[in-house]
Amino acid sequence: MSYTGPGFDPPQPRRSRRGPLTVALAALVPGALLGWAVYAAVGGSGGDEVSAGVSASASGTPTAGSSPSAGADDTKSPSAPAGSGALKGKVVVIDPGHNPGNFRHTADINRQVDIGTNRKECDTTGTATNDGYAEAEFTLDVAHRMRTLLERQGATVKLTQDADRPFGPCVDERARIGNEAKADAVVSIHADGSGTGNRGFHVILPGAVHSGAADTRAIVEPSGDLGERIAGDFVRVTGSAPSNYIGDGTGLVTREDLGGLNLSTVPKVFIECGNMRDSKDAALLTSGAWRQKAAQGISDGIVGFLRG
Ligand code: ZN
Repeated sequence: MSYTGPGFDPPQPRRSRRGPLTVALAALVPGALLGWAVYAAVGGSGGDEVSAGVSASASGTPTAGSSPSAGADDTKSPSAPAGSGALKGKVVVIDPGHNPGNFRHTADINRQVDIGTNRKECDTTGTATNDGYAEAEFTLDVAHRMRTLLERQGATVKLTQDADRPFGPCVDERARIGNEAKADAVVSIHADGSGTGNRGFHVILPGAVHSGAADTRAIVEPSGDLGERIAGDFVRVTGSAPSNYIGDGTGLVTREDLGGLNLSTVPKVFIECGNMRDSKDAALLTSGAWRQKAAQGISDGIVGFLRG
């Protein structure tokens, strides 16, 4: 199974299984994606996200993406002044999806691990653009940019991996790292490997599972809040549209088959920042300036969640 994420089997529609939370989230989506609505209203084309992001802001404040230094790591967050320490005492775990070394350790990453609901591969190689820019490189780059932004606000930031191990960690360990850090928020960074023409980002929320070592019932609600904020801020800062191929245009998808979510005991979401296999999305994902906006949008969502 080439180029599928950590248990990233194509998600199955779950309409018949949607619970009250999903319905509640759907009702809140217009608010969460207000930035996107504003972006669309001010004349965004919906196609050229690289330039469109500069014009959209739900709050009327300039977005980080409008800064000439958007490509640098030192872009300030609009949510709090630099060095304000607003997140002092807060722990954020960033989980850069996959590992650049996974390609060389197929036997190790194919080992099955227990994710509570079932068993699944330890990890996967991740996808890549058609030109060979690996998802694992993308996820690390965005994670580093996020770490800079969040540490500036006083947060304690931990990465589950920093290309400092030959492969992995396995999905169960990725969850355990967030749990043992007693993280206030965990975000797993990814980019998708879907068909050409499929575009946009989506945030994956944990569904309620209670089986074996998996019990997400306590984190479903706060994770939904976290994911909704990230989706809204991602739209606002990057100008990217929610996925046109999953999530019914909301940018939010609930899944019950990901070990990294099922085994988490702290608020956690995944984000698929775009589709590496689509040439237009790939042009964004390979741009350092765009990755800075992505990191800013995700970080702003985390900050909003942690500050309440
Ligand atoms: Zn992935």
